[in-house]
Amino acid sequence: MNYISLYRKWRSQNFDEIVGQRHIVQTLKNAIAMDRIGHAYLFSGPRGTGKTSMARILAKALNCKDNLCGSCDSCKKITEGSAIDVIEIDAASNRGIDEIRELREKIRYLPVEGKYKIYIIDEVHMLTQEAFNALLKTLEEPPEHVVFVLATTESNRVPVTISSRCQRLDFERISQAEVKARLLEIAKSEATEVEDKALELIARAGEGSMRDSVSLLDQLISFSGSKITADQVVLLLGGANEELLFKVSNALVGEHAGELVLSLKEAIDAGKSALQIARDIIVFYRNLLLVKLSLPDTVDAGGDYIKRLEDEAAKYELPRIKEILKAVAVAEQEMKWNSQGRILLEVALLELLGNRSPVTVTKPVSMPEIGSSAEQPKPNTDTGIVTDSRLTKIKKHWNDILTSVKKKSLFGYVSLHEGQLLEINPQGKLVIGFKKGFGFHKDRLEEQKVKGVVEEVISEITGDKIGIICQVGGTDHPHLSAQAVAEIFQ
Ligand SMILES: [Zn+2]
Repeated sequence: MNYISLYRKWRSQNFDEIVGQRHIVQTLKNAIAMDRIGHAYLFSGPRGTGKTSMARILAKALNCKDNLCGSCDSCKKITEGSAIDVIEIDAASNRGIDEIRELREKIRYLPVEGKYKIYIIDEVHMLTQEAFNALLKTLEEPPEHVVFVLATTESNRVPVTISSRCQRLDFERISQAEVKARLLEIAKSEATEVEDKALELIARAGEGSMRDSVSLLDQLISFSGSKITADQVVLLLGGANEELLFKVSNALVGEHAGELVLSLKEAIDAGKSALQIARDIIVFYRNLLLVKLSLPDTVDAGGDYIKRLEDEAAKYELPRIKEILKAVAVAEQEMKWNSQGRILLEVALLELLGNRSPVTVTKPVSMPEIGSSAEQPKPNTDTGIVTDSRLTKIKKHWNDILTSVKKKSLFGYVSLHEGQLLEINPQGKLVIGFKKGFGFHKDRLEEQKVKGVVEEVISEITGDKIGIICQVGGTDHPHLSAQAVAEIFQ
């Protein structure tokens, strides 16, 4: 037996089976009931939202003698795709004028089996100019027995001369709740058990396209068998996108530069482009904004996810969310034209962190207890730490140094931003430390050119000629608790 894809198997066969698009179903049903069928419809909307299915159902409704029965000859043939009076043209693969010429010649002939001849032209915006011209002549004087359904994902590319002669119906993205309900129905009848969380992830991944979500479910069934877990979905989708976004948010809330850079690195290592990550972050913060504005209904997601978004949004003040959205949106614009997308995104996010003052930790063991330090400004000479005056100067001008380095070397800036000023060592060099796992910053800063820039800037700003060396570790001293380390890094 031939394998039939789940999407084809579950394609809606009548108006009631269509998921979403109630406004369109109602319009078409009314038109049929009142016998006011238009000669040309333009079905516009994102892929996978049911345009072609709706066109076929309309064809059935027009030619069935018994109210879209589904079992008469006409209905059966349309379902099978073998009806002579329903002509489907895929403009994406037939851009040529020939098909439209042929259409013009044959269109005069009366339908063979039913009352109407229905021409469904998919991706109509792909037609050549000549084909559009030929189509236009037909649309200007359509024979009584013909109905055109022009479907497109890009209505702005359909000439106005064409679209103005059509009744336009806009298909909307299908809500996640509706997609999820349909997926559950399909899974049940396929004897497949799917975790609720997994259903939600599949629905969300389709971004409003039923076809994409059902295809994904199809893949998962062949990949996982009769039981599908959320983990398997994450695996198939290539990385836990959602978790990444919460990690980024967590890092921004906690002002953890390291966590921020590392999260981005993980996502990029998992194969995501920086531009895609930026866009995901924008959508995420837009959702946080909507939730913050008490508009959770406008977020297209399931209840669990909304709850999580609400918890996350509670950590922010409204202006802060707007600030982040703006900054990432600006970066996203720039990234389209810049090959250093990752750096731009890193910089944009790091700039959102507060001005961290570097803390000197020459003798970590002498750090005050967490409880007692909470109210104190900063550990300094009182705790017995001897500070080189050059180090004090560098600390004082640290933000100026960062800003100036940024102008000369973005790479240098990003890495330097991650560093902690540890000490001036006995050889008179400024020691910059990086957390374990962040050796790539050390490597970057030690490139001769980058290092030169940093040393030059320090000299310009503080007047002290001083070399830098980098080390990994030393910032997270084993004598310090994780909490103490976290404090130092803030
Ligand atoms: Zn029928």
